Amino acid sequence: MNSIDAARQYFETAADQLGLSRAVRTLLLTPQREVKVQIAIPRDNGEIATFVGYRVQHDRSRGPMKGGLRYHPEVDGDEVTTLAQLMTWKTAVVDLPYGGAKGGIGVDPKSLSPAELERVTRCFIDQIHEMIGPNLDIPAPDMGTNAQVMAWAVNQYEKYHGFSPAVITGKPLELHGSAGREEATGRGVAIITRATCDALGRSLSGARVGVQGFGNVGLHTALFLAEMGARVTAVSDVTGGVWHPAGLDVAELSQWARQSGSVVGFAGASPLTNQELLTSDVDVLIPAALGGVLTPAIAGDVRAGIVIEAANAPTLPEADEVLHQRGVVVVPDILANAGGVTVSYFEWVQNLQQFRWDLTRIRAELERIMTRAFDEVWALAQSKQVSLRTAAYMIGIGRVAKATQLAGY
Ligand code: NAD
Repeated sequence: MNSIDAARQYFETAADQLGLSRAVRTLLLTPQREVKVQIAIPRDNGEIATFVGYRVQHDRSRGPMKGGLRYHPEVDGDEVTTLAQLMTWKTAVVDLPYGGAKGGIGVDPKSLSPAELERVTRCFIDQIHEMIGPNLDIPAPDMGTNAQVMAWAVNQYEKYHGFSPAVITGKPLELHGSAGREEATGRGVAIITRATCDALGRSLSGARVGVQGFGNVGLHTALFLAEMGARVTAVSDVTGGVWHPAGLDVAELSQWARQSGSVVGFAGASPLTNQELLTSDVDVLIPAALGGVLTPAIAGDVRAGIVIEAANAPTLPEADEVLHQRGVVVVPDILANAGGVTVSYFEWVQNLQQFRWDLTRIRAELERIMTRAFDEVWALAQSKQVSLRTAAYMIGIGRVAKATQLAGY
């Protein structure tokens, strides 16, 4: 099963619980608009290179559409459409006044020089500038894009539309970006982990945590969990992993990974593979790298009692069922990793008000929104006796359905 089928299955389970008719399900699943564009640029050597770009606007019933721009060789229309739909439910679960969208280009950014990457980005914005806007559709970084790419994107948009920093979030701080945006997803994951432990009556202090992925999300998640008193005993990246039963020094590990390019070889820690990390003896497992890593076979061997989905779609539906049967509590991606889009929302608000918030305010507001969303999902899961995933989808889909119905057709 791929991520498209998985998202559909999770949607249908929640829609059954909500008693939605087939007609309403079709209405909610059908994207508002899907655009596929040609991106042709001269390469540095003078040859022409052509790529395909996508922007899918899934739903706008709750506000302007929001979603990242992904640069990856495997980006295609189906994937972008699925991710756009997930953004709709994600913004609704945390109750941001947004709909959902997603975009991307089928390109390996590592195969481009910085000048080529800039040309690709400017050409893409030339193609889609009429369909995005501060009150319409607000892109942000995703896999393969970063604050620099957002800076080029907003600059290109402004050539057509004038000063409009609120059209894109995840911008550099020097160009109307927000304090706390870079750490936001990991900080949100840590807040949700603590809330889950509290709700289950388990202590986060001293709890053993395994984190797969040590990029933006994995690193900040590990840093904040260590700060909250957890023992981060296992960490991995694409090249392998390390563990230490007493807990790794996350700040030093981060320094080591920055110098050497990987967590592997960190002094005093033992090696472990990515597969071993997923089934290692920890209390909390946090996949923070790829989708689809928790397969039914691995789910049967997971030893953690809690799985927090920091990555998008790390658990296949059959594996979700195995974990559920085994009593493992899984906090779904649309709730667990919503900290990023939440601080993107703060960036947008600051841009519209032309008033800056400091990091203390950003962190306090993030904590309030993530905690409230967790409490709502937890309470619904308890009252309906459903998984946290089904409860989160029920809240997200239910809010979108209600807004659609109130607005009329
Ligand atoms: P990133 O590129 O900064 O880091 C990815 C990490 O995963 C790296 O450490 C990389 O080495 C590791 N990795 C790659 N392939 C791997 C493999 N086969 N096995 C183990 N590790 C592997 O990406 P990120 O921004 O940290 O995003 C991680 C996940 O979180 C993605 O699923 C992304 O969609 C999701 N996410 C990110 C954000 C955000 O704000 N960055 C928000 C929501 C969701």
